[in-house]
Amino acid sequence: ALHMNIAIIGTGYVGLVTGTCFADMGMNVTCVDNNTAKIDSLKEGVIPIYEPGLAPLVQKNYEAGRLSFSTSLQEGVAKAEAIFIAVNTPPDEDGSADLSHVLAVAREIGETITGYTLVVTKSTVPVGTAELVKAEVRKSLDARGLQHVDFDMAANPEFLKEGAAIKDFMSPDRVVVGVESDRASRIMKRIYRPFLIASDRLLVTDIPSAEMIKYAANAMLATRISFMNDIANLCDLVGANVEMVRKGIGSDARIGTKFLYPGCGYGGSCFPKDVKAIISTARQHGYDMRVLRAVEEVNEAQKHLLFHKLMAHFGGSAQGITVALWGLAFKPETDDMRQAPALVLIENLLSAGANVRVYDPVAMNECRRIVGDKVHYADNIYDAAKGADAIMLVTEWKEFRMPSWSAVLAGMHPAGPDMAPPPVFDGRNIYDRTELGAAGFSYYGLGK
Ligand code: NAD
Repeated sequence: ALHMNIAIIGTGYVGLVTGTCFADMGMNVTCVDNNTAKIDSLKEGVIPIYEPGLAPLVQKNYEAGRLSFSTSLQEGVAKAEAIFIAVNTPPDEDGSADLSHVLAVAREIGETITGYTLVVTKSTVPVGTAELVKAEVRKSLDARGLQHVDFDMAANPEFLKEGAAIKDFMSPDRVVVGVESDRASRIMKRIYRPFLIASDRLLVTDIPSAEMIKYAANAMLATRISFMNDIANLCDLVGANVEMVRKGIGSDARIGTKFLYPGCGYGGSCFPKDVKAIISTARQHGYDMRVLRAVEEVNEAQKHLLFHKLMAHFGGSAQGITVALWGLAFKPETDDMRQAPALVLIENLLSAGANVRVYDPVAMNECRRIVGDKVHYADNIYDAAKGADAIMLVTEWKEFRMPSWSAVLAGMHPAGPDMAPPPVFDGRNIYDRTELGAAGFSYYGLGK
């Protein structure tokens, strides 16, 4: 076939972005999901996730007829030359990646295909998963008496960032493709050529290496964050300023400037789960990932840090005080609250008897879904600060960067005569201590 027909199984963050971007480059794409509500709403033009630029791109390609949505894998796969598996791979109880959705899809693919197809794992999956998928597809084909049907496997991990997903997908730093046949390699090159015209950034590897690259990349990024959190905590103790330290080391070309920001812990659907999964893979092979175990431990502690600073400020009790939480999402430009530090802080504050007032530009509904009415949902940061005794900045949304501090303070509960001025706990180091001091606040940053 001259034209490229593609099926994407799993229409979440990764599946929807991948499918939409392929369609935007002229390919015919069917996005499949077994969540009927999700597919129905997509057909009505309602995008189930918040991702800048995604909605108009979906709409454009849907209206052009290049992008369609279906709950039926059979329908999506019927004409597809390549099938991308992009379903979720959540952590199992023991931290390993739960492959049940991936393998269920593999089984269904084997029950459906009738001729040569390329089966691509796009989900983040441990080394060896492509082998398991292959065996599953083969088993289903055998059961249908279709031993002669040929198919290939490819591993194509995804590196997009939530919040910049379209940009990352359209101009990737690199595309990693693990294959074991020339035919598979040719198809993958053809699919990705439109994205790599400006510079050839396709890295073709064997399948296990491609699977490993994704985990190693996320584990490295998580390591940088925990490392900097450790450095920031030490800076606090010795009187150094981590912001200067960060610039001082980031200017070293061997280190680089990115992912050197201390904070209140990494969250999201990827780093926590992928770090756990690689530790678990190693354990299954009798190897102990000592560095990554420490990375996890530092991160867990860091999520509680603002709460400990608050307790210390209020002399060991938060009973009856009111705290404004600015930001809920695990990072800006997303409504994703999976493993978000905000959830840990809300839990800490509520169990210490504090009242919590929250505001986030896009994650309010998500928070309502998870936390319910145990916290007060405010209209904006000033409303969140109303009657509050303390402010906690948890997510560094742009609109939080330069508040009118006088307006914030005017709404807050005044500190008692013998008390320090109301505290601001800056979980992302975005505020200036001097400015906040002058505005009448006690300022707590991280390592500065
Ligand atoms: P998600 O939970 O947003 O979406 C997964 C989708 O798969 C859901 O809509 C679900 O209904 C669907 N699904 C599950 N089982 C199915 C089945 N049997 N048939 C059809 N559909 C099924 O997940 P996500 O964030 O898109 O992540 C998908 C994978 O990509 C994960 O392995 C993740 O680790 C990886 N990944 C995610 C990101 C990210 O930023 N979110 C980035 C890179 C890689």
